[in-house]
Amino acid sequence: MKDPAMKIVKNTEKINENLSKVSDKEAEEAFKTIIKWIGEDPGREGLVETPRRVVKAFKEYFKGYNQDSTSELKKTFGDVDGYDDMVLQKNISVSSHCEHHMAPIIGVAHVAYLPNKKIVGLSKLARTVEVFSKRLQTQERLTMQIANALMKGLDANGVAVTVDATHQCMTMRGIKKERATTITNYFAGKFKEDLSYQNRYLKYIGDKN
Ligand SMILES: [Zn+2]
Repeated sequence: MKDPAMKIVKNTEKINENLSKVSDKEAEEAFKTIIKWIGEDPGREGLVETPRRVVKAFKEYFKGYNQDSTSELKKTFGDVDGYDDMVLQKNISVSSHCEHHMAPIIGVAHVAYLPNKKIVGLSKLARTVEVFSKRLQTQERLTMQIANALMKGLDANGVAVTVDATHQCMTMRGIKKERATTITNYFAGKFKEDLSYQNRYLKYIGDKN
């Protein structure tokens, strides 16, 4: 029988358990094939090291599969002298990749929460955005995952998340709308129930500074 305690420590967000079964060498071979497929010579001097470099870069683009947002949010501070209003962090840079074309999604996120007796280090808000950005994403899911992680991790009274980004699969290919940006919002708790919170949040993120 399985030890029931294992369940508690099980990292439910770690979804890459199968991923590590592909070796770096195999991934490099795959990129070599793609280089050939686009009509290039992978043996050419400038390209010899490229598959290795691309694998290294991909590890960075997709490092979110090895990260867990819940552990980021574990360390909270209870000594806040009763502060219970909105904590809002604006313009957190986002670089992600769309899951349909693996093309970059570049933009910013705005994140707010209403503390419930405890607050979290400000850098952890940006870290949460980072963990979910560094995966293959849709902007809609990214927005929701950030919000749900904060809501749950901080046991917050409310969370608001906005992502404002351009999708290179739209600007560089296909419909080629260079200036199109996409905005997604997700509200939970008081931000969803009480429009006065939602309106204040929207006003703050709309202010240019
Ligand atoms: Zn796409």
